[in-house]
Amino acid sequence: MRTKIVIKNLYKFKKAWQIGKARRVSALMNQVINSNEFKNEVLEWKFSDRRYRHSSNEDYQEISDNNKILEILMKGYEQNSNEGEDYTWVLNIKLGRLLRQVGRREGDLIITQNWFFKKPDNEIEIAAHWFHEYSHILGFHHDYDSTERRPDSVPYALGTIVKKVLENSNIM
Ligand SMILES: [Zn+2]
Repeated sequence: MRTKIVIKNLYKFKKAWQIGKARRVSALMNQVINSNEFKNEVLEWKFSDRRYRHSSNEDYQEISDNNKILEILMKGYEQNSNEGEDYTWVLNIKLGRLLRQVGRREGDLIITQNWFFKKPDNEIEIAAHWFHEYSHILGFHHDYDSTERRPDSVPYALGTIVKKVLENSNIM
């Protein structure tokens, strides 16, 4: 089963180059999530923080099986959503201003800072950032402080994996 990553809404994207860049990033994301390299990395990763919940009123549980983590990612079963396991990620992206961090998410919306989005030739970094934020939409969690276990939490590890897969491929 292939996972489809589609753009639904782009807020504050006013220029053609911005929309074109968002489409290039989503094309990269589709190639990554359906690649064997990505699947192998997720299956073999030593995650240090496996917290997950499907809705915001549940307690977090630890997902000890990497197969299950991969399955949640591929199925695209978003938190607080009734769209179910449709093998689709639906991206809602907004360009933001005034924050120093590259972005964050609010509900099912990913906010990417304009200073980061407009950097030249950083499609890979944006793809990594959107994977990170979308894993929050799916229900994965990490520490807010920069703890020892944070780099290998599911969201942060995904960012690392996406960069690794794309930098080692001839997709670009
Ligand atoms: Zn995060």
